[in-house]
Amino acid sequence: MCRIAYCCPFVPPELISACRLQPWPVIPRASCRVRGLTSVAGVCPYARAFVGEVLGNPDLRGVIVTTRCDQMRRAADLLSEAKQLPVFLLNVPRTWQTQSAQVLYRSEIARLARFLAELGNCTPSNDVLAESIRQYAHRRNFQNGSACSASAGASGVTAGRSSNGRVPLALVGGPLLWEHFALFDLVSACGGSILIDATESGERSMPGPIDESRLALSPLNELARMYFDVIPDVFQRPGTRLLDWLEGRIRERQVRGLIVHRYMWCDLWHAEVGRLRSRFDLPLLDLDSGDEDGPNTARMTTRVQAFLEALQ
Ligand code: SF4
Repeated sequence: MCRIAYCCPFVPPELISACRLQPWPVIPRASCRVRGLTSVAGVCPYARAFVGEVLGNPDLRGVIVTTRCDQMRRAADLLSEAKQLPVFLLNVPRTWQTQSAQVLYRSEIARLARFLAELGNCTPSNDVLAESIRQYAHRRNFQNGSACSASAGASGVTAGRSSNGRVPLALVGGPLLWEHFALFDLVSACGGSILIDATESGERSMPGPIDESRLALSPLNELARMYFDVIPDVFQRPGTRLLDWLEGRIRERQVRGLIVHRYMWCDLWHAEVGRLRSRFDLPLLDLDSGDEDGPNTARMTTRVQAFLEALQ
């Protein structure tokens, strides 16, 4: 089956599968380089690695990029200039409270459906799309259930410690490069436990549950609602949606500190650090990661160790 690459939580894989294409949620490796891109100053390491990963896979049938930040718009330009594969730029409105923003996202999803139908040579019926939406929801429920039972021991928090004796924390931030997933092990090795994964690959980016009556009326409308009306993100304005989402979980899971992982050239998450500090009265580690930094580097290890020692 032909693969379609994407990396943004506002791209619904249900739609890709319904068009008989294979969704490929890219988790780029830091080592992926873009040929011809000589200067990396000012370029988000994640956006750059995403472009490198896509161009390094010549078998791809297409790629979907969203307008969530200027760096990803630039990534879409670089991919288009390479003329290697069809590129679809999905407009995701920054505002989320107005009906016109919802209508715009819905129309963008309809435009994406036409693009995918052409690539897959298949226009899915409403029944096929509805079934694809149900299958993904079922899979997510199953994964959430497994994750809950696996972390059941860690989720009970007493006297500022999870029941396994570790310091309960939230990891907040945008997308992670493949190498950055080692951060979970690093935090654990230093005596912490991440009870809220508010990065882009974590629970923050999960779409909402299905409303079966709406699904029966229009699968495409329901798909748009499940994503646009639910997922909080740093580029949205007003930014209260992300902070409110986080506040509910912080209270529920009694976390004692925030680790914010961000890339050096990412203005959005850089600005969010200040908002997180003023909204939450919790110790915060601002973990800025540059071009060469990974969780295995001495600088990052030392900073995580020092943060957790102060919380012990
Ligand atoms: S980390 Fe920031 S700059 Fe990079 S792609 Fe995400 S939002 Fe854009």
